[in-house]
Amino acid sequence: MIGIFGGTFDPVHFGHLRPALEVQQVLGLNEVRFIPAGQPPHREMPYATSPQRLSMLRAAIEDQPGFVVDEREIRREGPSYMVDTLASLRAEVGQVSLYLILGYDAFLGLPDWHQWSRLIELSHLVITHRPGWNHDDLAEALHSLVKQHEMAFEQLSEQAAGGLVFVPVTQLDISATSIREKIRAGQDIRYLLPDPVYEMIKMQKLYR
Ligand code: ATP
Repeated sequence: MIGIFGGTFDPVHFGHLRPALEVQQVLGLNEVRFIPAGQPPHREMPYATSPQRLSMLRAAIEDQPGFVVDEREIRREGPSYMVDTLASLRAEVGQVSLYLILGYDAFLGLPDWHQWSRLIELSHLVITHRPGWNHDDLAEALHSLVKQHEMAFEQLSEQAAGGLVFVPVTQLDISATSIREKIRAGQDIRYLLPDPVYEMIKMQKLYR
C-alpha cells in the first residue's frame, strides 16, 4: 500500500506534510512517496533548483517512518506527467495498491492533466478535503469520475487501483507561493515549514 504525493515542493511545507501523514494513518499506508516534479507541466519552472528542492524535502521527512523521497520525475527528461510516473511505479510494484494523494485544488484541476482518465486505472485517488464539503457543484467530468469510482475506505485495499475516496484532513492555509512572497517581503517564515527547511532557506538565501 503505497501513497504517492507529487508536487513542486518549492519549498515543502506543513500543508504538504501534515495531510500526507493523516492520509497515511487513516488508510494504513506502509509508505508515502514524495515525488518532486522535474519540469511541472502546468506552471512556470520552480524557483529553487531540483537539487535544492530535493535537499529540502529530504531534510523535512528524514526521520518520519514510511516517508520516502522518490527522484524519478527529476531524473526523467521532459515534462513531469503523473501518468508516466504512475505507469513506471506500477511496472515496478506489480499488483500492490497505489494511492495518489491530491489536495482539493489539485483535484479540481485534474481534467487538465495529461491523459487524466488513465490515472484512476493506474492507482486509487485520495482527495484531501474540508469536512462537510459536498461534490454537488463539481465540473461534469469530475462529477462522473466520483460517481463511478467513489468507494468506502475498506474497499480500497481489495484492489490495486480504480477507487476514489475523500479524506478529511486538518486544514492548513499554507502555500509555497505565500512562503516565497513572505520571504521576498522580508517576513519571517518560521513555523510554516520544518526547522531544517527553514535553516536551509536562510543559509542558502533562497527565494529572495
Ligand atoms: P505553490 O504555491 O507554489 O503552487 P503549493 O504550496 O500549492 O505550491 P505544490 O507543491 O504545488 O504546493 O502542491 C503539491 C500537492 O500538495 C497538491 O496536491 C496540493 O493540492 C497539495 N497541497 C499544497 N498545499 C496544501 C495545503 N496547505 N493543504 C493541503 N494540501 C496542500
